[in-house]
Amino acid sequence: MELDTNTEEQSVEFLPMPDSQGNFGEYGGQVIPPELKAVMDDINEAYLEISQTEAFQNELADLFKHYVGRPSPIFFAKRLTENIGGAKIYLKREDLNHTGAHKINHCLGEALLAKHMGKTKVLAETGAGQHGVALATACALVGIDCEIHMGEIDIEKEKPNVIKMKILGCKLVPVSRGTRTLKDAVDSAFEEYLKNPKDFFYAIGSVVGPHPFPMMVRDFQSIIGTEARQQFLESQGKLPDMITACVGGGSNAIGLFTAFLGDEEVKIMGVEPSGLGLETDKHAATLTLGTPGAIHGFKCYNLQDDEGNPLPVYSIASGLDYPGVGPQHCYLKDIGRVEYTSATDAECLDAFMTLSRTEGIIPALESAHAVAFAMRQAKEMSPEQSILVNLSGRGDKDMDFVIEKLGLE
Ligand SMILES: *Cc1c(COP(=O)(O)O)cnc(C)c1O
Repeated sequence: MELDTNTEEQSVEFLPMPDSQGNFGEYGGQVIPPELKAVMDDINEAYLEISQTEAFQNELADLFKHYVGRPSPIFFAKRLTENIGGAKIYLKREDLNHTGAHKINHCLGEALLAKHMGKTKVLAETGAGQHGVALATACALVGIDCEIHMGEIDIEKEKPNVIKMKILGCKLVPVSRGTRTLKDAVDSAFEEYLKNPKDFFYAIGSVVGPHPFPMMVRDFQSIIGTEARQQFLESQGKLPDMITACVGGGSNAIGLFTAFLGDEEVKIMGVEPSGLGLETDKHAATLTLGTPGAIHGFKCYNLQDDEGNPLPVYSIASGLDYPGVGPQHCYLKDIGRVEYTSATDAECLDAFMTLSRTEGIIPALESAHAVAFAMRQAKEMSPEQSILVNLSGRGDKDMDFVIEKLGLE
């Protein structure tokens, strides 16, 4: 077999998916009022033009390297592998990025795009505060105003992230209406955005929302897989047999998967949170149990009631509890290129502790779902085979919660 280490040829940053209307098969698109469609089409046009310029590409590449610390390494988890038995487990270390997770990749891309488009303010909502911190970081660096809407309940719960956002200089808007959580923060941020969509930029935090966001966020995150594929080939002389990542909205997963979609011999697995169990109503396994519908301006698998309203979702990892999912994942599921499975809260906590104690790496609870699946799966495979796990973030943010949950004091 001839080894292909030529990543230029494998460049997947601008795959033909989606079509010009933002459809990935029957998913994605723009389920929005006409005036908003005009705004989204503007962003799409600007993105397609600006992202192709050498100036933009060089600026982003430079920040990825010198600011984020890319490329993030691939690490062979030797003691974890020995502990489990079976396939070798490798980790793509997105947890080592500046700010501790993959989100900085697309936040930098979005902040930079907003700046190049001459926007005056970047807006977003945040739930647990991860997207807010990454975006506030990117905006501080790029030098553009940042406004984050956050439910009062979440503000109470997520003190460290709230303080970080304030230190980073963003305007934090507490949301006191309704449930005072993420859902209402979305509405509040969006209302602010609609006051002046010409001058404001709404930065979506995953591969969701109306076109062009699922495409744009994917393109910014695809650096993960582009690096990983080349790194794996160079160090192992072959591709991994399987790659896997956790799926909330799906940005870290599509970021890893994109470069490998054409490699038929590589099995690709997305891992959703099954929470307290798929048979309960306490999970967020959208692709596993959802049905097609519309949410937040696009079409995708949804966890919804008979009237099409989003059902309450749950995960031990707050970054994974979203009732929709990125449209490209829905498409990849339907065509069978990617398989989606799930891991429970209990499996996640076990993986969190096991990885910490075999490798000295404390993973984010989100990422621990992918580690949990790899631990389950490695046993079924031979020691000559390998699984590459996207370690999307570090667990610093989750430590208090885990200590309380497991009573480790
Ligand atoms: C936000 C987050 C996720 C979930 O988001 P995706 O868009 O599905 O990647 C996963 N891991 C970490 C560490 C996160 O912060």
